[in-house]
Amino acid sequence: MVDQNYTAEEMFRLADSFFTSMDLIAAPQEFWDESMIVRPDDRDVVCHATAWDFSNRKDFRIKMCTDVTMDDLLTIHHEMGHIQYYLQYVDQPISFRSGANIAFHEAVGEVMTLSVATPDHLQKIGLLEQGVNDPETEINFLLKMSLSTIGTLPFSLALEQWRWDVFSGEVNSANWMKRWWDLKHELVGVKAPVNRTEDDFDPGAMFHIVGDYSFMRYYMRTIIQFQFHKAMCDAKNHEGPLHTCDIYNSPQAGDKLGSMLQLGSSQPWPDAMEQITGQRDIKADAIMEYFSPLNTWLQEQNKLMDEQIGWEEASGAATRTVFYIITLITMATVALILF
Ligand SMILES: [Zn+2]
Repeated sequence: MVDQNYTAEEMFRLADSFFTSMDLIAAPQEFWDESMIVRPDDRDVVCHATAWDFSNRKDFRIKMCTDVTMDDLLTIHHEMGHIQYYLQYVDQPISFRSGANIAFHEAVGEVMTLSVATPDHLQKIGLLEQGVNDPETEINFLLKMSLSTIGTLPFSLALEQWRWDVFSGEVNSANWMKRWWDLKHELVGVKAPVNRTEDDFDPGAMFHIVGDYSFMRYYMRTIIQFQFHKAMCDAKNHEGPLHTCDIYNSPQAGDKLGSMLQLGSSQPWPDAMEQITGQRDIKADAIMEYFSPLNTWLQEQNKLMDEQIGWEEASGAATRTVFYIITLITMATVALILF
């Protein structure tokens, strides 16, 4: 993108064209006039990317300080997913203009990134050399996708479990840090790199903690985005492994998604889920299917290297395993991924 002199606006236009290729709704002119997509040089702003519905049925905006990177291209698709939801349920009464549940809203753009990030798609839009289709590329792709999805599950769970324990009064302020790192150890399998005490407040480094945004939405959406992906890939009669599916240019997939988004929150979420997937539950089948080639590969690697799986339960030196390394990398990147 840098070589091709992409600008922030061109990245947003690219994301918009992904939605319109599926016969979904284009972002209106007001969106392009009023959004803030580059960091302004005349004032300080909060750069954390967010999408906004001004609730007057015509004003929808994104606020983001865009850099020309792959991460930001995927973030743009995520934020444009929120805008698409706003546009689809615009005719609902105000009280139904929200996601079927809060995880649905977070899943829409993520579903798009599952297609956008595929090597095939990047080749189609001229961002990756033609002919890169070997098994190594496939595993690299799946490993990268797992870091931004599978790897976030224990992170999200630990964060929200901690907040639940704090608000329920089970943990008092004298033990906030201890509980934080106990959960990190137990669920994520990582330890603080330096000594931490109750004088520190690591949870406060998270945008969603200081901004009081719920976090279970990211845990749930990570599972349901694969259910949506599979449903849309079935709608376009995709053949081959699920992770190679690209819903670009598929009005059938767009129709499946759009008709569910139009419901907003006017129906209970299991009804909305059933409309798009035929299932009434949040299920892990699709995410398991998507990553099964990687799962097989990791099991072989672990056997080959004689890795011990897991880590010690009590505090003490955590066992160094392939998974442990992955979660460490995830810890470092997860703050960039979760919006
Ligand atoms: Zn979001």
